[in-house]
Amino acid sequence: MAASKGVVVTSVDMDTPFRRIMAANRGEIAVRIIRAGIELGLETLAIYSPADRLQPHRFKADESYQVGDASMTPVACYLDVPGIVKLAQEQGVDVIHPGYGFLSENAAFARACVEAGITFVGPLPETIEAMGDKTAARRLAQECGVPVVPGTDDALENADQAKAFAAVAGYPVILKARSGGGGRGMRVVRSEDELEDLFARASNEALAAFGDGGMFVEKYLEDPRHIEIQILADNYGNVVHLYERDCSVQRRHQKVVEMAPAPGLDQSTREALFDDAVALAKHMGYRNAGTVEFIVDKHGKHFFMEVNPRIQVEHTVTEEVTGIDLVASQIKIAGGASLEDLGLGTQEAVPKPNGYAIQCRVTSEDPERNFQPDSGRITAYRSPGGHGIRLDGAMASGNMVSQHYDSLLVKVICKAPTFMTAVQKMQRALYEFHIRGVKSNIPFLENVLRHPEFLSGVASTSFIERNPELFR
Ligand code: ADP
Repeated sequence: MAASKGVVVTSVDMDTPFRRIMAANRGEIAVRIIRAGIELGLETLAIYSPADRLQPHRFKADESYQVGDASMTPVACYLDVPGIVKLAQEQGVDVIHPGYGFLSENAAFARACVEAGITFVGPLPETIEAMGDKTAARRLAQECGVPVVPGTDDALENADQAKAFAAVAGYPVILKARSGGGGRGMRVVRSEDELEDLFARASNEALAAFGDGGMFVEKYLEDPRHIEIQILADNYGNVVHLYERDCSVQRRHQKVVEMAPAPGLDQSTREALFDDAVALAKHMGYRNAGTVEFIVDKHGKHFFMEVNPRIQVEHTVTEEVTGIDLVASQIKIAGGASLEDLGLGTQEAVPKPNGYAIQCRVTSEDPERNFQPDSGRITAYRSPGGHGIRLDGAMASGNMVSQHYDSLLVKVICKAPTFMTAVQKMQRALYEFHIRGVKSNIPFLENVLRHPEFLSGVASTSFIERNPELFR
């Protein structure tokens, strides 16, 4: 049995058929995948762009290889499907985990892996393709009776069609890119006279970011909560949920603080979300880990938004409250393990959430400069620790923060018996951080964590926008 050089493997049960795993990503999620690989007794391979040759994720793996070259943009190196698949073949890799972002929702990459005889950790390419089009996802949800926000079922050809919808549904509406993600290609429209301009802007933004300017429109719900359900499915049609996460604390439709479970959520709403998420996953023949995202209005009514066919940034909070290692589960399922093999053969077998977990995304964004990402060398780095604190990432003093990539520095996750004790732990963790050389969003996160609305446990998606004092 080949094993990671980092671990002396004794009699741990090696329940994957794999020998060598590649993390086709960078940063904290590459580290997360490598850590899971090592624990599963696998040899681990990292990839890095020329710009990333000194990045810590590289040094966490047993081996690391450059992808791309100086002629490519730093981002393009991690999107180079033929280059990455060729490297994986040459290096005898038998399983690739794509993480999130980059190639994680690229059906062509998933297919190229399969064709090269390499297991892709994720759903089938067809599923990735279908979920990449949010209008198709909406249609699938409707097919199995899952409520969707009133909206257009097909992509719009022009702004006039959006106007026609809004004339009937009423303003505000939200224009959304059907291929969108990360809050891009989305605009809230409050009156007809702004629609044409915002449509053009959102569509252009989507075209530049996703290569597809196709838009659709939905009724905009004021002040909902964002609640999402973690799904785990095997290759044999079995599906369980791992309960919910609350990701309502958002800035510009991007998540900032996430938690599990969702404080104060009505149990009947919760059950309805679980049922709908599982029904949809079964209907789609979903495989591996996935997330079904909903918004929930003030009356507890829920509406489907989208399915994310990959591991999410916020998977950690689910891991903390259920005790289930989601990334290891993904790899095992990709290797043919059934939910039963994972001890999750029935919904009752899934451990009930224990306590509360909160995650903050610590980024190099400067709250005083409109959250512009800062870059440069980290000259001092002290991180928190102690009971109930988990850090995902591998930043250290001396590391460079690149302007070319996502500004996420480290994820800090706190786990405690109650929501309030988890908050207190997070306040303490943020206080303990000491990062010099680049600006960070820690002062902003500290403001969020002490705001009465946040402390009420039921902040809605408009919380940050409504409270500009959080930025100071
Ligand atoms: P992305 O894929 O870019 O993350 P989503 O469709 O998941 O986009 O939406 C991101 C966020 O935008 C949601 O969490 C929610 O806060 C907000 N949002 C999306 N659709 C609506 C809607 N119809 N009404 C109100 N808020 C919405």
